[in-house]
Amino acid sequence: MTTQSITAPTPTHQSPLATAHAQLAGAVEHLGYDDGMHAMLATPRREIHVAVPLRRDDGSTVLFHGFRVQHNVSRGPGKGGLRFHPSVDIDEVRALAMWMTWKCAIVDLPYGGAKGGVAVDPSQHSAAELERVTRRYTSEIMPMIGPDTDIMAPDMGTDERTMAWVMDTYSVNRGYTIPAVVTGKPIAVGGSLGRGTATSAGIVHVTEAALREAGEQLEGTTVAVQGFGKVGGHAAQIFARRGARVVAVSDQYGGVRADDGLDVARLLEHVAATGSVVGFDGGDPVSNAELLASDVDVLVPAAIQGVLDAETAPTVRARLVVEGANGPTTTEGDAILAKNGITVVPDVLANAGGVVVSYFEWVQANQAYWWTAEEIAQKLEHRMVAAYDDVAGQARREGLSLRDAALTIGVKRVAEAHQIRGLYP
Ligand code: NAD
Repeated sequence: MTTQSITAPTPTHQSPLATAHAQLAGAVEHLGYDDGMHAMLATPRREIHVAVPLRRDDGSTVLFHGFRVQHNVSRGPGKGGLRFHPSVDIDEVRALAMWMTWKCAIVDLPYGGAKGGVAVDPSQHSAAELERVTRRYTSEIMPMIGPDTDIMAPDMGTDERTMAWVMDTYSVNRGYTIPAVVTGKPIAVGGSLGRGTATSAGIVHVTEAALREAGEQLEGTTVAVQGFGKVGGHAAQIFARRGARVVAVSDQYGGVRADDGLDVARLLEHVAATGSVVGFDGGDPVSNAELLASDVDVLVPAAIQGVLDAETAPTVRARLVVEGANGPTTTEGDAILAKNGITVVPDVLANAGGVVVSYFEWVQANQAYWWTAEEIAQKLEHRMVAAYDDVAGQARREGLSLRDAALTIGVKRVAEAHQIRGLYP
C-alpha cells in the first residue's frame, strides 16, 4: 500500500501543541476546508487557568498552576482526563484536549474534547496533600465542569481515588451526589466494571486487528512496552495473558528485558513493592532508548509524548507501533517511521478504549443501572474493532497512513457537527 503524508514537516523537539496543529492542518487541507473552518477546529472553545495553593503537611504553603481546556463541545459535553505532572502547561493541555476531540469523534461517542492538568509532581506529596490539591483545583474550575458540560477522568499522575475526590468536592458543593461528573472512579461510588483496564484492553484489540490485517496473530508476537503505569502495566499483562511475549518494559527510572518473555505477573508484584520495574530479578536492565530500539514485532509507547522523534524513530525495529500514550510520535518521527515501512496505529484510535468505557460508565451513572463485566468487555471490543475497520478502510481507499485516515474521520465528524448546527447568532 502506498501512503502519502498529509501533515506538514516540522522541526525536532516539537511541542505537543505543534504536533497537534500540524496534524490538524494536514487533515483540513485533505478535506478542503477553508480558513474559517480551520480556525474553528483549531481554537479551544473555553479555557481556564487557576492558582492552586496547597498547605503542606508541615504547615508551609506552595502554589501550583492548574488548567482546564474545552477544545470542542459541538458533538456533546467536553470529555477528558486530569493530569498531574510537573511539565503540565497550558499548551500541553490544549494539545491533549484537541486529541480528545478527534478521539471521541473517531470512536463515535457523543462527546467533545477537554483536558485538565496541574503542574505538580505527585511523587513529592503525601496522599493528604494530593487530596487538598485535587479538591482546591476542582473547586476553582467548578463553573466549567459538570455531568452535562465537561466530564473528567484519570490521566498521568491521577487515578480512581483522585476521581472520587473530584466527585465528592463537586457533589458536596451542589448538595447531592452526582456520580456522572467524573469517570474512572471507584466501583463503590458508581465506577464501571472494566474501566481500570479499558485503555489497555483497547490497545490489545487494535493490535490484534492490525496483525490480523497483515495475516498474523497475537499469539507468539513479541512486544515491548514503554511506561508501566495504568496503561502500560495493564497492557503488558493483557498481552501476556493473550499469548504474546512481552520481552521489554520500562518506566521513568529505567527498564528490564528478557528475550524469552518477562513474567509480567511477578513484575507487577515487584512494581507494587518497589515503585519501579528497575531491579526486577527476572530480566536484564535496559534503558528507555534501548527499549524503543528493541527487536520486536510490536512497540507500545505508553508513557509520555514526543518520545519517537527525529533521533529515536530511525532506531525503531518493530514492524508495528501502537500508541498507548497521547502524542508519543512527533511529525518528523512519524515521517521516518512511514519511510521505514513501520505501521503506526495512532493514539487517537489505539488508546480510545479508556474513553469508550468512560462513556459506558457515564451512561450507566445517568440511568443508575449497571452492566456486567462481560457486557462491557463485549461492547468495548465491538467499538474498538469497528473504529479500527473504519480507519483502516479509509486508509486503504485514500492511500493514507492510519493516523491521517483517523484524523480525517474525526475532524470531518466535528466539522459536520459545526456545519449542521450553524453559527450562533
Ligand atoms: P501513569 O501515571 O499511570 O503511568 C505513566 C508511566 O510512564 C509510569 O510507569 C511512569 O514511570 C512512566 N514514565 C513517565 N515518564 C517517563 C519517561 N520520561 N520515560 C519512560 N517512562 C516514563 O499514566 P497512564 O495513565 O498510564 O498514562 C500514560 C499515557 O497514556 C499518557 O500519555 C496518557 O495521556 C495516556 N492515556 C491514558 C489513559 C488512561 O486511561 N489512563 C487513556 C488514554 C491515554
